[in-house]
Amino acid sequence: MFLVFSAPPVAHDWHDTNAHRALVKKAFDGLPWRTAELLATLDGARDLYFDSISRVTVPRWTSGRVALLGDAAWGVTLGGMGVGTGLVGAYVLAGELAAAGGDHRVALPAYEARMRRCAGRWQKGANPGQFLAPSTATRLRLRNVMLRRSAVRRLLLAGTASVAAPGGLPAYDG
Ligand SMILES: Cc1cc2nc3c(=O)[nH]c(=O)nc-3n(C[C@H](O)[C@H](O)[C@H](O)COP(=O)(O)OP(=O)(O)OC[C@H]3O[C@@H](n4cnc5c(N)ncnc54)[C@H](O)[C@@H]3O)c2cc1C
Repeated sequence: MFLVFSAPPVAHDWHDTNAHRALVKKAFDGLPWRTAELLATLDGARDLYFDSISRVTVPRWTSGRVALLGDAAWGVTLGGMGVGTGLVGAYVLAGELAAAGGDHRVALPAYEARMRRCAGRWQKGANPGQFLAPSTATRLRLRNVMLRRSAVRRLLLAGTASVAAPGGLPAYDG
């Protein structure tokens, strides 16, 4: 099961699985269909993964010798872009360091500039939380229609593939 719901920020212990079970049950309590039966399986589930879809926007991805990479930097997670952009970021960071002979003062700004062009565009507007847990009935219907259409799924997969192998990346020596 993959369950998504919208909520204000909740203070809780991230290691307390029972608290997570209670939060999920509270969010879906009383809903029709097989909801009660599905929620009951939570008690026996040993592999519950619980997280919030949220993002802190950081103004810079590099500072001195420190570089943020992947979710820690751009956080385009859950839109099908997280793994691809993370791997591309690792490639560009290693490549720029090699190209600059290890000089971080040259390599890190070059890495950030390139990744702003590549990952930065996915940050604008993309909000998988709003798509997955819509706030109106119309948006809910739209989401369901989109997820059922094979053409839309193909489009999403094509987007994921293009993120993982974007054009215009330099072929760094070595
Ligand atoms: C439910 C879900 C579904 C997703 N589906 C997709 C998908 O279909 N396609 C896609 O491309 N992406 C998807 N993503 C996003 C993708 O998983 C992330 O974008 C990707 O894992 C980011 O990689 P990362 O290396 O930046 O961070 P992470 O994978 O989070 O790796 C960070 C690592 O650092 C470790 N760590 C944290 N703090 C410390 C510390 N102090 N010391 C040492 N280690 C530490 C963590 O344990 C973790 O292993 C999904 C994410 C979720 C949650």
